Amino acid sequence: MKRMKELVDLLNKYGYEYYTLDKPSVTDQEYDRLMQELISLEEKYPNNILPDSPSQKIGGHIISEFKKVKHEVGMFSLGNVFNEEEIRAFDERISKVFKNHEYVCELKIDGLAVSLEYEKGLLKTASTRGDGITGEDITHNVKTIKSIPLKLNEPVDITVRGEIYMSKKRLEKLNEERKKQGLELFQNPRNAAAGSIRQLDSSVAAKRRLDAFLYHYPLTKFKTHFESLEYMKKIGFVVNPNIKLCKTINEVIDYINYWTIHREELPYEIDGVVIKINDINMQKELGYTVKVPKWATAYKFPATEVLTKLKDILFTVGRTGQITPNAILEPVKVAGSTISKATLHNEENCIKKDIRKGDYVYIRKAGDVIPEVVKVELSRRESTNEPFEMIKNCPMCTSTLIKEEKMADYFCTNENCPARKIESLIHFASKNAMNIEGLGEKIMEDFYNFGYIHKFSDIYLLHTKKDELKKLEGFGEKSITTLLENVENSKNNSLERLLFALGINGIGSKTAKILCKYYNSIDMLKETTKEELEKIKDIGEVLSENIVSYFKNENNIEEIEKLKFLGVNTSYKGKSVEVNEEFEGKKFVITGTIDNYSRDEIKEFIELKGGFTSDSVSKKTDIVIVGENAGSKKDKAIELNIEIWNEEKIISIMNASK
Ligand code: NAD
Repeated sequence: MKRMKELVDLLNKYGYEYYTLDKPSVTDQEYDRLMQELISLEEKYPNNILPDSPSQKIGGHIISEFKKVKHEVGMFSLGNVFNEEEIRAFDERISKVFKNHEYVCELKIDGLAVSLEYEKGLLKTASTRGDGITGEDITHNVKTIKSIPLKLNEPVDITVRGEIYMSKKRLEKLNEERKKQGLELFQNPRNAAAGSIRQLDSSVAAKRRLDAFLYHYPLTKFKTHFESLEYMKKIGFVVNPNIKLCKTINEVIDYINYWTIHREELPYEIDGVVIKINDINMQKELGYTVKVPKWATAYKFPATEVLTKLKDILFTVGRTGQITPNAILEPVKVAGSTISKATLHNEENCIKKDIRKGDYVYIRKAGDVIPEVVKVELSRRESTNEPFEMIKNCPMCTSTLIKEEKMADYFCTNENCPARKIESLIHFASKNAMNIEGLGEKIMEDFYNFGYIHKFSDIYLLHTKKDELKKLEGFGEKSITTLLENVENSKNNSLERLLFALGINGIGSKTAKILCKYYNSIDMLKETTKEELEKIKDIGEVLSENIVSYFKNENNIEEIEKLKFLGVNTSYKGKSVEVNEEFEGKKFVITGTIDNYSRDEIKEFIELKGGFTSDSVSKKTDIVIVGENAGSKKDKAIELNIEIWNEEKIISIMNASK
């Protein structure tokens, strides 16, 4: 009970700072964490829910200077999910009521919600969400936003909802100006947009050049949300182009994964993905809680930046000899995992960001990417922290480091540097390479130092050392048997893993797979020429050169033969390219949904036939495949006079080749 009261008071204070003052004192993730704690306590003790609990009400207070607007239909907040398990649980709840439900996925724009009321096609009132029932009249400021039409293409009476936001570039510029004027900086685009829109003087909003995406038609006359969005576009609203109709929850998860990686490329901030049921009747049946719709939820991206202390800077040697400075950190939680080390990339990065041992630094982690130091919190720097200095010798073998002109990195060029050898062995056994569980960093280092593994092929001779291994600390009969089993199983891997594992300069796991589609065995690849390789898309001149010279090196060939002799598979087990004239060299774009085939299946098919795929239609596009519910890409294809294939055509080609 006491904790519940504490949380309610704290969250109400943060809510006031965020919604009313547009000046948050904690991060959104901290707020969400406390809110989750409160909700789980409230679920456990439902009789003790406090009347002023923020879980029971929407948004903030109404500022008295603004005229009040009563919303014809309530404006709601959204429930939150934070990981795949919770997304699936949301879907399972819906599956209990409906079968064959579709979702529309949308980017969750980090701005502030707006309701727009039009009469006979003319903008009459614009209002904020307020407490969901009553909002503030912000018509004077909204009229300064160019992407919000004052007049629609049809003279309709309509109310729509959307998000007002400020682009990343505008925010950066605005903060630069504010800095010069000694004003407090806006912490994020949401606060900047809200701070601009809730001004009495509309010249302020006009100068700040806000934008808007519209995403909701509350009293829609259509059967689906997707159709409503299409209609909104038609009558003149800007709807975000990245909306996607998803038939399954797996497609929803793919969409989220895609935007988790690509969100940085957008010119505006998003803080998650909104998942909405497409069918309006289903929406109506599912209904609302006091605060949120049950037919939609918001997936929130995990925290990506946190502050911690940089305790030390250590240099490591990679398998190519590349030297990387690393930040050793006071352990801190970022994006769900505890981070104690982050990359500092290279000397130039450390100098440019003026990163010093002892500084407080912001750490960022996105998806699977290695965490990195974003910037230093200069206000917490001790005067004794010394500027960064690059080392001159390899920290492992002490040979002099080399840095080529115009290159960012230093290298240890000693082929026999133990650090380089250990790193290449670790890479060989790693998850995306030969995937030998039990041969991780520490064990590989020990096995190298004890002399058991110096070359890749030694891994496949480990079984001959079984009795010696048993004497090592931490190894018993069982763990050794499991390790040897894993080694044995890795012999059956398809060629792309081995190709990646060998560590040929420039061959990542994706390139390895592409190569395998053209060369089914390592022997075929061995015989290829630079000219042949360069014909493949994504394989450039430098990479072709690397591949050819790798297979010219006798030591490499000897090692590959040894691996073969020891039973390691050197053939590709996946589907190979079978070039087809209709596809070869052509650029395809797919829009809409195709019966029985997912987007990824069609893309793979096109690529296996020698074609390429892209997400956007341009003059360079050769063919646009148009499925059901195709969007603006179809219109663009018509406009640019690009060949169009309908659903039947691609399905019949794909079926025929089964
Ligand atoms: P929300 O931000 O979690 O989600 C609802 C809002 O999402 C909608 O009102 C709408 O404005 C927006 N949205 C963006 N794109 C959308 C789309 N395509 N479709 C539908 N809606 C879309 O909920 P909220 O009630 O506005 O705010 C709560 C959140 O605000 C918290 O989870 C927290 O992250 C943040 N917050 C932070 C503090 C703080 O002190 N840092 C305080 C209060 C709230």
